[in-house]
Amino acid sequence: QAALEHRNTYRFYNHDMNTKALERIGLENALRHAIDKNELIIHYQPKFQSCMNKVTGVEALIRWQHPERGMVPPMEFIPIAEENQLIIPIGEWVLRTACMQMKEWHDAGHRLSLSVNFSALQFRQLGVSDRVYEILSEIGLEPNCLTIEITESVAMKDVNYTVKTLNALQEKGVKVSIDDFGTGYSSLSYLKRLPISELKIDRSFVRDITTDQDDAAIVEMILVLGQTLKLNMVAEGVETPEQVEFLRDKGCLEMQGYLFSKPITAEEFQSKFLQF
Ligand code: C2E
Ligand code: MG
Ligand code: MG
Ligand code: MG
Repeated sequence: QAALEHRNTYRFYNHDMNTKALERIGLENALRHAIDKNELIIHYQPKFQSCMNKVTGVEALIRWQHPERGMVPPMEFIPIAEENQLIIPIGEWVLRTACMQMKEWHDAGHRLSLSVNFSALQFRQLGVSDRVYEILSEIGLEPNCLTIEITESVAMKDVNYTVKTLNALQEKGVKVSIDDFGTGYSSLSYLKRLPISELKIDRSFVRDITTDQDDAAIVEMILVLGQTLKLNMVAEGVETPEQVEFLRDKGCLEMQGYLFSKPITAEEFQSKFLQF
């Protein structure tokens, strides 16, 4: 029986499994050990106040330095981690590590805000708001400088749960931002119910604002919506001065993008943007 199974397995791998699937299994196994092996790191992308040219905060973005594959982008391994639930320990590692880094910067006199991305499963983890608060207390970071980013589609799935969880986070002083806004299917009446403090306009709309009238109109509309709901508005993926000008004109106060800075290591961020 064992021999037969082995032979079947062998055949299966050889003929039926494409290289993509094999690669995925390889990645999945390697990811299981990535935390212990110190292969995960966080890059920080500054958030700029557009009118003052001042850094107001950073977004933590995970990176995986695989010994053979090099830098694996989060879009490749976050979905895998989400499927096999490794995202729970990985997400907690990101939150803890980024909060500890921010605590260090605060202690050195730099009052920046910190944004951390939460995946669907992380956000739906039982007692998530208590867990976040526990970590903050343990580290000694004030809750009001932490913003949790969830995507629009995560927020709009089971809105009752979302409202309950966001209320619990807000009660503890933690802010919530809706990431990649415009790509999901927000019901405006739901949006009004959500205790959020920020909308991040998705990069795909920002990209062509100066050349595509439709994108320009969509971004303007999102900004009006955000202003009406009294939300802090952030534009993602700003790459040109023309985009800055357009956004500034329409009242977008905060921006992120390669024009200002790519995501960089804590050391690089410190030497470029903070004076110790
Ligand atoms: P996101 O949260 O929307 O992050 C913005 C992404 O856009 C980042 O990609 C960033 O490097 C990239 N970006 C920023 N400015 C520009 C620009 O001007 N031009 C272009 N072309 N790209 C720009 P990254 O770091 O590869 O992350 C991709 C996504 O992976 C993130 O999208 C987020 O959804 C997810 N992610 C990253 N880190 C984490 C994490 O710690 N936990 C979870 N759950 N998800 C994460
Ligand atoms: Mg984000
Ligand atoms: Mg985003
Ligand atoms: Mg985006």
